[in-house]
Amino acid sequence: MPYTRNAPPPYRGGCLCGAVRYCATAPTLGARICHCTTCRAATAAPFLAQAQFARRDLSWQGTTARWRSSERLYRHFCPRCGTRLFLEPRDAPRIGIPLATLDDPAAIRPEMHVWTCEALPWALGPDDLPRFAQASPLPYRSPAEG
Ligand SMILES: [Zn+2]
Ligand SMILES: [Zn+2]
Repeated sequence: MPYTRNAPPPYRGGCLCGAVRYCATAPTLGARICHCTTCRAATAAPFLAQAQFARRDLSWQGTTARWRSSERLYRHFCPRCGTRLFLEPRDAPRIGIPLATLDDPAAIRPEMHVWTCEALPWALGPDDLPRFAQASPLPYRSPAEG
């Protein structure tokens, strides 16, 4: 049963420099926001939002490099621009794609937070921080004197 709030497939995306492009042709098997320390370090971001697909439903052009971050997982990235791409489990015929790499990053909605025990205290809503639709109208502070 497809997750009904998602845009329909196909889902296209790729890395920042364009050397790697992918297409997923079927509904996602599930989309999650992972707050684990490994995803955070690997993506250099507060958390990783990713969607899983059947391996047979994802194809890509271009060459990725990959690094084995744990016994069961390879993490792919673009060797040219460094964008983090696929998550390839060694023990299942699935592959994950970071939602942020989709051409339409809002096409798939995360269904749950996972590993919240490792979440940064400010990375889990709700919060009451100011929100701006685009860039902040407030300038950055100047460095302290001397
Ligand atoms: Zn790239
Ligand atoms: Zn994780």
